[in-house]
Amino acid sequence: MVIKPEQLEEINQLKKQKQTTIRPVSAELEEILYHPFEVLDHGFVRVVDYMGNDSSVVQAARVSYGSGTKKVNADTALINYLIAHRHTTPLEMCEIKFHIKLPIFVARQWIRHRTASVNEYSARYSIMEDEFYIPQAQHLSAQSKVNHQGRDESKVLNQQEQKMVLDILKKDSTNSYQNYLKMINQDENGNILNEEKEGLARELARMNLPLNCYTQWYWKIDLHNLLHFLNLRADSHAQYEIRVYAEIMLDIVKKWVPHCYQAFIKNNKTGKNFSGPALEVIKKMLKGEKISQENSGLSPREWGELMLTIDIKN
Ligand SMILES: Cc1cc2nc3c(=O)[nH]c(=O)nc-3n(C[C@H](O)[C@H](O)[C@H](O)COP(=O)(O)OP(=O)(O)OC[C@H]3O[C@@H](n4cnc5c(N)ncnc54)[C@H](O)[C@@H]3O)c2cc1C
Repeated sequence: MVIKPEQLEEINQLKKQKQTTIRPVSAELEEILYHPFEVLDHGFVRVVDYMGNDSSVVQAARVSYGSGTKKVNADTALINYLIAHRHTTPLEMCEIKFHIKLPIFVARQWIRHRTASVNEYSARYSIMEDEFYIPQAQHLSAQSKVNHQGRDESKVLNQQEQKMVLDILKKDSTNSYQNYLKMINQDENGNILNEEKEGLARELARMNLPLNCYTQWYWKIDLHNLLHFLNLRADSHAQYEIRVYAEIMLDIVKKWVPHCYQAFIKNNKTGKNFSGPALEVIKKMLKGEKISQENSGLSPREWGELMLTIDIKN
């Protein structure tokens, strides 16, 4: 179970609180506030707080005294214009705070997004839990031969190799955790193992834990930078284990700021920037001119990517 019964009780108590406010809220986000959406085998994402909604973006763009909203159509068009033309500061007026539980190797990729405020669970102060990411067999794929940076998701290991990998991961995780407890001189329930020993400090004992060990943090970010994060991480180029978090967060954005979400999907997520030479190739093709990679000004790789994007078999 990802969430322990006592943690669920705390969340349920919070959900029972009803407060009236004159601040802009998002009805759909209120519905899922505090709710932990489970990710991977022990992880979760939940929203713990937020500021603003679609109207806050409009209000900031117009520097209004009132709510800033006009007709829904005008507001939607304005949001679309802002996102399409990268006038992004009004998006920074909305903020959201997540509580995320994730494997350390995912956290390492995540923390590269420097525009968020982060507070991580302290493994100097607290004892790390016995929770390690063990992938499902269907996610155990071979190294890609094309993209040297990742796996080839279509090339899943055979059952024998899957078993070998899973056995190693499980055995090493259990072993590391047992040694961690031994070093800090405690058992699984926090009792002292040997009264005659001091036990190593937690800040040192943790160094022997593997990267699939789970950590947690509070992560607060504004809407503009969150969309940048989601553009990169809710994407097929991102590693599966971070992508699954990003996809849930994208769905949360849809509930929180539906008009911004639509504009983001339209202009960024399903749109594409082209280089100058790539744009020239498209123009020439539209005019019916014959063009090949050799005279396009594009490298074979760039050419291949362009043909894939515009859905032309070459
Ligand atoms: C598919 C993929 C593969 C990757 N592979 C690697 C890899 O092999 N090795 C590796 O090290 N990283 C890798 N990364 C991480 C990547 O290089 C970025 O560090 C990460 O995506 C964060 O992006 P960002 O800097 O735009 O985001 P943020 O840190 O959130 O910054 C947002 C924007 O703010 C601005 N900004 C923030 N800080 C600065 C600054 N100090 N100076 C100037 N502008 C700033 C930039 O415009 C930036 O785009 C990879 C990322 C992806 C998505």
